[in-house]
Amino acid sequence: MKETKKDIRSYTQDELREYFVDQGQQAFRGNQVYEWLWKKGAHHFEDMTNLSKETRAFLQEHFVINHIKVDHMQRSKDGTIKNAVKLHDGLTVESVMIPTPTRTTACVSSQVGCSLNCEFCATARLKRMRNLNPDEIYDQVVAIDQQSRSYHNRPLSNIVFMGMGEPLMNYNNVIKSIDKITGDDGLGMSPKRITLSTSGVPKMMKKLADDRPRFNLALSLHSAIDEKRVKIMPFNEQFPLEDIKDALRYWYDKTGTRVTYEYVVWKGINDTKEDIDALIDFCKVIPCKVNIIEYNSIDDARFEQASKQAVDAYERELNRYGFTVNVRRSRGKDIDAACGQLANKE
Ligand code: SAH
Repeated sequence: MKETKKDIRSYTQDELREYFVDQGQQAFRGNQVYEWLWKKGAHHFEDMTNLSKETRAFLQEHFVINHIKVDHMQRSKDGTIKNAVKLHDGLTVESVMIPTPTRTTACVSSQVGCSLNCEFCATARLKRMRNLNPDEIYDQVVAIDQQSRSYHNRPLSNIVFMGMGEPLMNYNNVIKSIDKITGDDGLGMSPKRITLSTSGVPKMMKKLADDRPRFNLALSLHSAIDEKRVKIMPFNEQFPLEDIKDALRYWYDKTGTRVTYEYVVWKGINDTKEDIDALIDFCKVIPCKVNIIEYNSIDDARFEQASKQAVDAYERELNRYGFTVNVRRSRGKDIDAACGQLANKE
């Protein structure tokens, strides 16, 4: 039977060193290969010119180098770029580069499709097809870093895990990708510039807290009333707000860092005084910040952006209670690159 070739990028540097020793070669060959793969971004073994011809041929025989490929790029009027990213098995995810006058943010995907079922999100309709590997997440970041350098003459400054998928449902691979993004053997970025966003999976939020990450956490809240949240985010049935609050307290206890709540206000869904009062109570649980984000239409008649008055009322009341609140405008709407619009439709 033919041996299936392994993706050499799934090996750590130590594992590569060991591999070479097992083959009767010197361990430093492992370092060389690792450097080609991660620092120099080699796509072919024959490019690894400091290895002998025989070694290159040997690697070629036993391994593949799986790489993402930016298949298609769309540029918005506001400078936002959406990438359709082709994976080695032919599936596609999307990533977004969001420039502002002072920084460039990469919004990356963690799964192909999504395992959760938020009614207002285009990605949810794709269902979850598979998890992304650490290198597939890392490669999205590298590609956007290169785009930032070529379009804006500056490196990438921030990363948000707010593309397709639920990062906490692909925990190990997401953490490994962040290790690589922040590590000296990767991009060496500061973890403070990375935000992981979750729909709220309490058990995994606690696990994350136990691992004491140095990056930021955001929670997609959208309603602080169980009966309402369950209608727009049906998985809330399994993960009710009481459990999420419990996980937030645990998070704050372990990490001492505040959490950002993402919140969209929809007409007739969560635009009343009762909704605001519930959010204010929720904000008392741990130190936090609220980002009110604009609804990006996904052609579903049930959802419509609430009036400016309703959003203003949220802002005013949160301020009155001393909570930090930002009202955010969407970017890249004209190319369906805004939050919740990622669905591989070009
Ligand atoms: N699954 C994670 C990561 C995705 S982040 C999470 O839910 O946090 C994507 C963000 O965009 C989330 O805050 C999500 O609730 C929000 N979102 C989804 N659909 C949206 C839409 N149509 N308009 C605006 N925001 C949306």
